[in-house]
Amino acid sequence: MQGLPVIKHDPAMMADSPAPERRWRWLCLSMLLVALALLPALSPAAVVLDGSLGQIELSSRLQWLRDDSGQLGASELLQPDIIWQPATGAAVNRGIDRHDWWFRVDIRNNNPRIEEYILEIAYPTLDHIGVYLANGDKIVDQYLLGDQRPFIERPINHHYFLMPTHWPADETLTLLIHVRTNGVVQLPLSLWQKSAFASHDQARQLIAGIYFGAMLVMLIYNLFMFIGIGDRSYLYYVGFVVSVPMFVSSLTGYSFQYFWPESTEWNGQSIGFFLTSTIMFAVLFTHEFLQLNRESLPSPIRIGNRAVLVLSMVMMATVFLTSYNTMLISVIAGSVVACSAALFVGLFGALRGERPAMFYVFAWSSLLLGGLVLAASKLTLLPQNSFTDNAVQIGSIMLVVLLSFALAERINEERRRRFQAQMEALQNERRARLAQEQALNAQQQANQQLEGKVAERTEELAKANAILQELSDSDALTGLRNRRYLDNYLNREVTRCFRYQHPLAVILLDIDHFKLFNDRHGHQIGDDCLRMVATQIRHCVARDSDVVARYGGEEFCIVLPETDMEGARAVAERVRRRVAETPFRVANENIIVTISAGVTCAVPMAPGQEALLLQRADEGLYQSKDEGRNRVTCLPG
Ligand code: GH3
Ligand code: MG
Ligand code: MG
Repeated sequence: MQGLPVIKHDPAMMADSPAPERRWRWLCLSMLLVALALLPALSPAAVVLDGSLGQIELSSRLQWLRDDSGQLGASELLQPDIIWQPATGAAVNRGIDRHDWWFRVDIRNNNPRIEEYILEIAYPTLDHIGVYLANGDKIVDQYLLGDQRPFIERPINHHYFLMPTHWPADETLTLLIHVRTNGVVQLPLSLWQKSAFASHDQARQLIAGIYFGAMLVMLIYNLFMFIGIGDRSYLYYVGFVVSVPMFVSSLTGYSFQYFWPESTEWNGQSIGFFLTSTIMFAVLFTHEFLQLNRESLPSPIRIGNRAVLVLSMVMMATVFLTSYNTMLISVIAGSVVACSAALFVGLFGALRGERPAMFYVFAWSSLLLGGLVLAASKLTLLPQNSFTDNAVQIGSIMLVVLLSFALAERINEERRRRFQAQMEALQNERRARLAQEQALNAQQQANQQLEGKVAERTEELAKANAILQELSDSDALTGLRNRRYLDNYLNREVTRCFRYQHPLAVILLDIDHFKLFNDRHGHQIGDDCLRMVATQIRHCVARDSDVVARYGGEEFCIVLPETDMEGARAVAERVRRRVAETPFRVANENIIVTISAGVTCAVPMAPGQEALLLQRADEGLYQSKDEGRNRVTCLPG
């Protein structure tokens, strides 16, 4: 938009005009007179201070002018020949325009006394402001303000630009304001009665206090959560919760008032810096919170998120390296891209049914809603009140609180997942232990079965061994003990009877004339006869410790431990008589078989005397044979 040229009158031009143009001159002059007559009706009425209003809004009633040359001063603009553009009826908003802007309004105090009002410019980021109060073309009061001047120069210590103004009774003064700024040209201008300002400002500071207080609480809470849990999401979130109120306080002038009242250059960069850091932390937080590095996500989302992070770094560079205008445009454009990307990523996750993403979208929507409410109130679609004015702040508190909830929910979710994993691990362990126990039981059973079988086999073997032993100790024909067994037994008994000095008796028996028997009846019958004699001898021996053995051929031996000579003789006699009295039946013929016996008995004098005993019994046997057979001869050992 072009500023209007400043028209200045040149009297010389009028004097030198040629005659034919005189008629035109008169015509113009008469039209000018008519216009001048109508001028009071067209000129804007002065704003009247009559004491009835606490706040007088001036922004929509300002005449304006843009000085493209940048050369004009206040006294020149107070000249009556300056043609001003009429007031638009709306608040001043000229966008980003670095030219010199001038605004004016006439204000009349209808009261009978001097009135004191506070002039407020509620837009704290204007660089240079000149405020002039003039009576006609005479400047009676002036202030030089703007955030490019140290805070200390302000006439009233406030985050907005405030000035005390005095209005003489029944006079009209001109309020002239000069604005030059690198940012947006806005001029929300009001005159306030002191008391009205005090009550209005009190409410405003209270709301700001609540806002910054809420943010501080969220900051401290989440900082402690980060220290306690160590989750990186919390760190980024804390960065975000620091950046948002710092951005808001830079935008509203609080930071300049309290944090860096001297640093005018940094103050110009701070808004961009904190907006950029807000976006940077939001991107980092989003990355961590929605776990955008997951392989399962489509690669455009993962790459897009990194691209937005790089974009926010570029934005940060422009804050410090480029002009204010470039920075402002890049930061605003970057913010639009980053916010759209964040919302898109959140919606993508939410549509996939991810709970954190749902929380995330819900949280960001509250800020978006705040922005929409503010925009709607600015466009007069919604009434302007303290709720709509603070909609973005309310939205940002909601955002911060909801994101904090979302973080806690995520921690809960993780805990639930970990608990479930633990339960599963426990169950698996239990299952494994059960399987191990079952395997062990099966092994034990197999072992038992094996042991049972081994025991069975061992028993069978023992039985077989016993049978074998029995067989190896027995005489195959008669079933009596054999010579080998007899020798061992006799040897043991001699030793034992020697130790206890007990008597040991030995009887040797021999069938009489058995050669003859064999010759007559044959060897088979002879074997039968041997068996019959063996049976008779066995019947005559009662004690377990007595042993009957086949000594060889048709000779038998009886060992009688603990038996004296008389006992032994009785046994030998009993055997002799029994055999003699038991007829052996061969081919319907009863044959009498007789035996002769030699008996000896002794208490052994030394171990190994068995041969001596056998010899003595043999001698007794020979003696019986010699003496006619079928008899018993006892010889002491
Ligand atoms: P004596 O009264 O003097 O003892 O006369 P004898 O015929 O019994 O004498 P001798 O001792 O010389 O004979 C033993 C005979 O016993 C020799 C043999 O024919 C017989 N004989 C030895 N062993 C067996 C055997 O195992 N079976 C059979 N059938 N006969 C046997
Ligand atoms: Mg013989
Ligand atoms: Mg014989």
